[in-house]
Amino acid sequence: MSEPNTKSGRPTTHGCISLHASGIEGEARVALLPEHVRLLVEDGWVVRIPPSLSAGVAVGDAEYAVVGASVTREAAPDPGRPSLDIFVSPPSQDTILALPEHTTVLGFLDPFNRPDLVALLAERGLDSVSLELVPRTTIAQSMDALSSQGNMAGYAAVIAGVARLRKILPMMSTAAGTVRPARVLVVGTGVAGLQAIATAQRLGARVTAYDVRAAAKDQVESLGARFAKIEIGETSEVAGGYATALSDEQLDRQRQQLSDLCAESDLIITTAQVFGKRAPVIVTGEMVARMRPGSVVVDAAIATGGNVEPSMLGEEVEIDGVVVMGDPNLSSRVAVDASRVLGANIVSLLKHIVDPETGRVVDVGGELPDPIASAVLLTRGGEVRDERVRSTLPQHGPSAPRSEGSAS
Ligand code: NAD
Repeated sequence: MSEPNTKSGRPTTHGCISLHASGIEGEARVALLPEHVRLLVEDGWVVRIPPSLSAGVAVGDAEYAVVGASVTREAAPDPGRPSLDIFVSPPSQDTILALPEHTTVLGFLDPFNRPDLVALLAERGLDSVSLELVPRTTIAQSMDALSSQGNMAGYAAVIAGVARLRKILPMMSTAAGTVRPARVLVVGTGVAGLQAIATAQRLGARVTAYDVRAAAKDQVESLGARFAKIEIGETSEVAGGYATALSDEQLDRQRQQLSDLCAESDLIITTAQVFGKRAPVIVTGEMVARMRPGSVVVDAAIATGGNVEPSMLGEEVEIDGVVVMGDPNLSSRVAVDASRVLGANIVSLLKHIVDPETGRVVDVGGELPDPIASAVLLTRGGEVRDERVRSTLPQHGPSAPRSEGSAS
């Protein structure tokens, strides 16, 4: 623990951070760029990365070495040293099994959809930190990786859709006549949806948008888009701004009223999600069939089940001339900037939740546990701490926390 840090000359007080390549095909993002590694090395971390990790963002190994990272394929040199293993996407079971005993696993762990991994992390007694569980509070904003990646995905959804549209978005007056602006419909106006609206507006489209949350109307209109009026009765929000699931009847009413809007749209971007649950089906096959051939639908909620009935995970399907895109990893299309903001989120989170004395996530067992550390710490000591995640596990196991408050 007192080995000198070659970059800063100060003694190392933290442990060893290892970055891992994503197991997901086509994932170009990395958890830390050299600018982030520099900050962590200065803080006393030893940072290890596998060779060619960042080819997807066109950053070479030498750039990591210059800021003090060690570029190596070997396992961490000192298994007794606290180690933090960072993943952009959920690690495989084999990877988890191979991690040393005192490891903290951090990353997008997809806790609501990967009960197998959650159970294994708990069984192995590892600490794990899920980026999906960062609370939506002012102080945690700089750590909110779901939002930073949602922003990137909203932008990328519009660019990807436009590239398949074979039409321009803005009105264009030329000597040969006037081209009318394309009509874009955005369903779900959280972080990704608002960015999609802003991007389509900048490109000159006529944008209409819809969300169940009452606050969404003002947010949509402040971007210059039209808010679609859809009557579905009472809706509620849960703490943190997230929407709750609609009833089947409300979803039916929503679909009926959205159908005409869909039919007249050139490009539809759907981003509607319900935290911890499957995304609602909002655009049915029938609604897609009513669209003009050449129109495009980008289902940006496909990673959590999708809002568009005929969309397929990771595929582009064509239905009567309408292209339906189901890319679950839109932010990877803009991997350089997505990694820039993701790395900043992770550095900010580590600075907040890691105890510099131990190199591990701070103790969350006291009377006044840090709310951010308490929320993001998914497993510790064999326990799954988040009650919402626990309830998705078979037989509601492994065990609930014994001496600590719930993370939810
Ligand atoms: P999300 O990704 O969970 O869902 C996207 C949107 O889909 C949400 O706006 C939701 O209301 C909407 N939606 C759900 N079901 C729908 C349906 N049936 N029909 C239409 N729309 C539906 O949400 P998000 O992007 O994470 O953001 C949710 C809210 O939280 C937003 O208001 C956002 O501004 C806010 N937020 C706050 C903070 C903070 O305070 N630190 C950080 C990030 C986001």
